[in-house]
This record gives sequence, C-alpha cells and structure tokens, in this order.
Amino acid sequence: MSVFAHPEFDAHEKVLFGHDPDTGLKAIIALHNTSRGPALGGCRMWAYRSDEEAVTDVLRLSRGMTYKSALADLPFGGGKSVIIGDAKTMKSEALFRAMGRLVESLGGRYRVAEDVGVTVADVEAMARETDYVAGIPAGGAGDPSPATAWGVFCGLKASVRHRLGRDDLRGLTVAVQGLGAVGRHLCAHLHAAGAHLFVADLNEQAVRQAVEAWNAVAVAPDEIHTVAAEVFAPCALGAVLNDVSIPQLDCAVVAGSANNQLATLQDGAALKARGILYAPDYVINAGGIVNISHESQLSGAPYDKAAAFAHVARIGDTLAEIYRLAERADLPTSEAADRLAEQRFKPAVSQAA
Ligand code: NAD
Repeated sequence: MSVFAHPEFDAHEKVLFGHDPDTGLKAIIALHNTSRGPALGGCRMWAYRSDEEAVTDVLRLSRGMTYKSALADLPFGGGKSVIIGDAKTMKSEALFRAMGRLVESLGGRYRVAEDVGVTVADVEAMARETDYVAGIPAGGAGDPSPATAWGVFCGLKASVRHRLGRDDLRGLTVAVQGLGAVGRHLCAHLHAAGAHLFVADLNEQAVRQAVEAWNAVAVAPDEIHTVAAEVFAPCALGAVLNDVSIPQLDCAVVAGSANNQLATLQDGAALKARGILYAPDYVINAGGIVNISHESQLSGAPYDKAAAFAHVARIGDTLAEIYRLAERADLPTSEAADRLAEQRFKPAVSQAA
C-alpha cells in the first residue's frame, strides 16, 4: 500500500503511524492542511478489517475537517485520527493514555476530540498525557448537540429565505428524519418559530414525545423523505440522498444535520436538476465544532455561550454565500461549498521540520 499514491492522499501534510506494544495501540493521525491553524478533529475507534481501510478513513475524514473548519471560519486546520481496534473489547485507560502521548508528540499541531467509538471519558484519559485535547467538560462547552441544532436551525432559515423568499417560519412545513440529540433540539426551535412538523424515528417513544410536545405528525421512517413539505431535514443517517430517494423527495429545501448525506458526488447535481436547494451537510452541521472552538482549551478565554452561539449563527451567512456562488457559477451547492472552502485555505504547510 502506498500512502503517497493513495486516491485520498490529496497532499496531506503529515500522516503519523503510532504503535504501543504494551497497550496494543495501533493508531494513525492524519494532518491534511494546517494553513489556517493547528488541525482539530476527532479520534475514531473502529475495528477496521485492514490497515488500508483505516488509512482510507483517516485521510478522507481529515481532509473533510479542513473544509469544515475553513467554511466555519475557524482558526483551525483539518486533521483526524483513528485507533484500529474494537471499541467494545479493546478499550483501556492505558491505551488512551498511549494515544494521548502520540498526540503530544505532534507538539500541538493536532488537537484531538471524541468521535465514533471514542467517548469524552476516553479523551479525558488522553488529557492525562497531553493538553492538546478538545471537547471535554473542563473546557466548558459540554454536549455539542444543542449548538449543532442551533446551526441547523439558522442554516435552515437561510435556505428557506434563499429558496422560498420568506423570513417568517410560521406555517412552514418541515419533515424531520431522526429525533436524537440534534433532531429533537431542532424540532423545539422550529416549533417555537411556528413551523408544522412531520417526524420519524425508529424509536417510538421519541416520536410520541414529539407528537405531544410539538403537535408533530408521526410518519413511518421509510416514508419521511417522501412527505410533501417545504423542507426535508435529515438528522439520522448518511447516504440518505441517493438515486432512489432523490426522485421521491417532495420538498424545496434539504437542510439537516446528518453527516455524508449525499451517497455520491453526482447526487448533488441530481438535487440541483430537481430544483431542490441542498444545504451542504458539512457546512450546516458545523455548530458543534464552532462551539468547541470557544472552549477555554482552544480559545484561551473562559467559555462564553452567547458568543459561541452567535458564531454558530453565522452558518446561515455562509450558506447564503454558497448559494449565491452556486447560482453564479451554475454549480450544485455541494460543489460551490468545496470551491468556497478552497479559497479559504492555502496549500499544505511544510511539516518537514
Ligand atoms: P443520535 O444518535 O442522537 O440520533 C439519531 C436518531 O436517528 C436516533 O434517535 C435514531 O433512532 C434515529 N434513526 C436512526 N435510523 C433512522 C431511520 N432510518 N429513520 C428515522 N430515524 C432513524 O445522533 P445525533 O447526535 O442526533 O446526530 C444525528 C446526525 O447528525 C448524525 O448523522 C450525526 O453524525 C450528525 N451530526 C451530529 C452532531 C452532534 O453534535 N451530535 C454534529 C454533526 C453531525
């Protein structure tokens, strides 16, 4: 396997392979681009079937963080790390401390946070070996989901303004897929703004609560994307916008928190061809990372929720800029977002020192 010739390599500045025989740690840290500042990105623990699979994942994810941080206007670059192993059976404090030492060895070029398979407690174990952590309670920001939901709400409003020409959400119909940590906060904001909600979740209790609390209409999980509503808000799964679901959509706007909503790059063009305005996922769901950037560990100042949420609200302005660019250049919004991000970071910073 060549890392330099890997299809996802994309001029990464640094890829660090770490092994600790005492704890069994096998980890990779990838720094894609640090021209805006130190790389910030989560650590994922996953039972990859091969080292190649782990390399592909870390390279893809760390590149994504460069784009996300650039469009969220954060003073951070893109990086990510993976621990190769089963999160159910292989975790130990010693393993995460070894990971902390690996992060420390980069001298602050990478800030680690939680991700799939890695909890806040695991990051706290890393923090016993390194100060270069983010997203732990000591930093002050806490659970990122309310900030993510606030960003989605602000982004949804900007999308509705652009596509439907209205600022007032009273009477707006929104179909929300997924009533988890983000989806239910989003519903609360939408309900408070006067929107009518259609909701679906595999968890029947969450649906019942939404019906009671917000007068929402319950819809079967496999039908929520087909509901006739002005906005479809995917807040559950990835790859939800694909060649089967896109022809079935009955909305003007797609704006939700789920990661990797487009199954393929072409699906961005398919949405454009149908006249549906798509809020690029990594832009609209950046509220959590924006909030984390205000933590004392990263900002150097005490966490200020009002300032953090005001920063999150700027996601709406960024989306409006992306939509204008997409129209001018006749591009799908997903491609316009990438283009705008690329204007906001410079070529890779030399890491040879
Ligand atoms: P969560 O696990 O709390 O909630 C997901 C919800 O979706 C659950 O209630 C689950 O039952 C439901 N669900 C799963 N499959 C479904 C289906 N087929 N139909 C309907 N509902 C289904 O997750 P979350 O933190 O709310 O995140 C939601 C999405 O947003 C994920 O894609 C996540 O990666 C993304 N995201 C979350 C954050 C954050 O701050 N939590 C930040 C950025 C992106």
